[in-house]
Amino acid sequence: MNRLVLVLVLEDKPLNRERGRGRRRDQNTGSGKEAVFEACDASTARLDESHRAKSNFLMRAMVFSEPGRLLDESDLSIPEPQRGQLLVRVRACGVCRTDLHVLDGDLVRPKLPLVPGHEIVGEVVQHGEGAERFAAGTRVGIPWLGWTCGECSFCRAGRENLCAQARFTGYTLDGGYADYVSADERFAFPYLIIIPTLRRRRCSAPD
Ligand SMILES: [Zn+2]
Ligand SMILES: [Zn+2]
Repeated sequence: MNRLVLVLVLEDKPLNRERGRGRRRDQNTGSGKEAVFEACDASTARLDESHRAKSNFLMRAMVFSEPGRLLDESDLSIPEPQRGQLLVRVRACGVCRTDLHVLDGDLVRPKLPLVPGHEIVGEVVQHGEGAERFAAGTRVGIPWLGWTCGECSFCRAGRENLCAQARFTGYTLDGGYADYVSADERFAFPYLIIIPTLRRRRCSAPD
């Protein structure tokens, strides 16, 4: 949406595609929440230990509640991916001028309370019903446009960013300033398509 993009948290480790096993554990345990933690690698597991001590169901998130107020570091429930959605373990999330417009109240009627952030790179750790575009462990990008109706004239013409019912990540949908985010798989990008030349050492986020 914007030209100004400030990014990123960098990660040196290559993605280990073996470690995402959310589907298998879903079958074994019947517990999506357990699958979230078990699908992550060792460093992630260490990071999550503090959360596990509090509750298996919580994640850290930075929460916006009103313009002019600092974001609150909070423990929120890990989102349950709904039909067609992915649950993504956030590895990095850019800070964009649009985020600042949300926080300043320039963009009106945000979801409240809200987890901002729409330039997300992470790994798929769980699937909602019918979501099968990306395997567990796949690195994906989650952009600003998070949902559209799929039926209006704009959507049918491939101009879904003009959909009157569109929802936006980090504005009318919770975004990436959190350990996990749920996202409609139709709007997620395969990471290797985003900027392949930087894939060894850098994350690059969709806008
Ligand atoms: Zn539409
Ligand atoms: Zn942006």
